[in-house]
Amino acid sequence: MQKTLFQKIADKEIPAAIVYEDELCVAFRDIAPAAPVHVLLVPRKPIPDIAAATAEDAALLAHLMLKVGDIARAEGLAEGGFRTVMNTGEQAGQTVPHLHIHIIGGRSLQWPPG
Ligand code: AMP
Repeated sequence: MQKTLFQKIADKEIPAAIVYEDELCVAFRDIAPAAPVHVLLVPRKPIPDIAAATAEDAALLAHLMLKVGDIARAEGLAEGGFRTVMNTGEQAGQTVPHLHIHIIGGRSLQWPPG
């Protein structure tokens, strides 16, 4: 099966500004940042989106959730706060069919989003 864009980034076939990686996941700076800090956290496993995850992915999803806090702290977002976003499907504006968590911060963020 063809690799997703984020698999190619995780495998270092496409360059990206990687801020964290381990055996299960990779985090890198979004190429079109929506805020001063905008990191994408992706599992190496190419799950298309959160709705496609199964019970088999439970430990992986827990790992990702815990890494969100670690990355936010490392990026200096812990004090001011930050937003996590997972877009799923067309109406949510998902453009890359590989599960990813946006970690966004470094300025005041409007809520609800448009
Ligand atoms: P989504 O719209 O939720 O699917 O988010 C996909 C994100 O991937 C967008 O915020 C894009 O700016 C980002 N993106 C696309 N290509 C790259 C790339 N080569 N390196 C880093 N981020 C990317």
